[in-house]
Amino acid sequence: MKRNLIAVFLFFSFIACDPASTKKNYPLHLSDVIMGTSYTIKVTSLPGSIEKDELISQIKRRLETLDQTMSTYRQDSELSQFNRSQSLQWQNVSKSLLTVLKEAKRINELTAGAFDITVGPIVNLWGFGPDPMLHKAPGSEVIEAALKKTGSEYLLLDEVGQKIKKTLPDLYLDLSAIAKGYAVDVVGELLEQQGVLDYMVEIGGELRLKGTNANNKPWRIAIEKPTSEARVIQKVLPLSDISLATSGDYRNYFEVGNVRFSHTIDPRTGKPISHKLASITILSHTTMEADATATALMVLGPVKGYELAQEKDIAALFIIKINDGFVEKASSAFLEKF
Ligand code: FAD
Repeated sequence: MKRNLIAVFLFFSFIACDPASTKKNYPLHLSDVIMGTSYTIKVTSLPGSIEKDELISQIKRRLETLDQTMSTYRQDSELSQFNRSQSLQWQNVSKSLLTVLKEAKRINELTAGAFDITVGPIVNLWGFGPDPMLHKAPGSEVIEAALKKTGSEYLLLDEVGQKIKKTLPDLYLDLSAIAKGYAVDVVGELLEQQGVLDYMVEIGGELRLKGTNANNKPWRIAIEKPTSEARVIQKVLPLSDISLATSGDYRNYFEVGNVRFSHTIDPRTGKPISHKLASITILSHTTMEADATATALMVLGPVKGYELAQEKDIAALFIIKINDGFVEKASSAFLEKF
């Protein structure tokens, strides 16, 4: 388990802003760890037919299976085996991995390549992957060489045959910016199949909210002020029947001198982003889409990201650094929701 966990645990003390959000008010209130980060699930009312402990073990089994499928931190995961393989032949894959790869390619096209799961070798080069952080910037020749191993066009999907193949032997996929969102959706759908209509599912800051909280009100979700020091609430959003994801440059980074290198990589340059966008929150109908879109707009920055959000009707809240703090900028689709 790497550095993320501490930052994530602290963050989620902000999530539950409602006074009701103590364990006693939720018949199912589960917190644990998965995918190197924490998760919390709250169910406001459990149908009588449900055996709570059985539901909890179902959720845990499902999340463990997804970790085993999509982790680059587990050498034996389905994804790690594909990444290690040099084969250019079609390979059978699980339905869930194919679902995530299909959405990843769609968001890659939607954002003109800003979201790109093939940046894995570059993420690792900068120390934001499974290997220990180096706290130093790699040389430009090394970055150039790694860039040559990236490109979504080198990953082909066969949806009918449930197969994938790489056309570049060293292609290496990193699903850290989309798979948690997918896992939230999987747990949400599992709850709904069991007749649960009011719940909050959150994994590593990606959330899906259905119905109401224990106060019979919309869920109140805090957006954090993107400062790496004290944890301060920027804004509280009343939300129901929607998914939310946030990406930022203030938790997972290293600094050399007064230059900050964060874990969001611009696939065009092979370097961490260097603009003034400190964090972005996306509201969407799936958490997988919100998760990937947040990273994409984080890459595009406050100007190009906002233009795309307006053009594609994306509900986005930008928190932008200014001299003495931050300024918020919301897309029209975001403003329409409140
Ligand atoms: P997000 O903004 O959601 O994602 C940023 C991440 O996306 C970066 O860290 C990088 O990996 C990737 N990325 C960067 N730029 C781009 C881009 N342009 N396009 C696409 N992707 C990009 N962490 C651990 O420390 N230990 C673990 O055991 C562990 N297991 C994991 C298992 C799974 C299945 C997954 C999906 C992740 C795992 N992680 C683990 C990573 C951790 O959960 C987070 O995913 C990671 O810290 C980034 O998530 P975030 O929400 O902070 O940032």
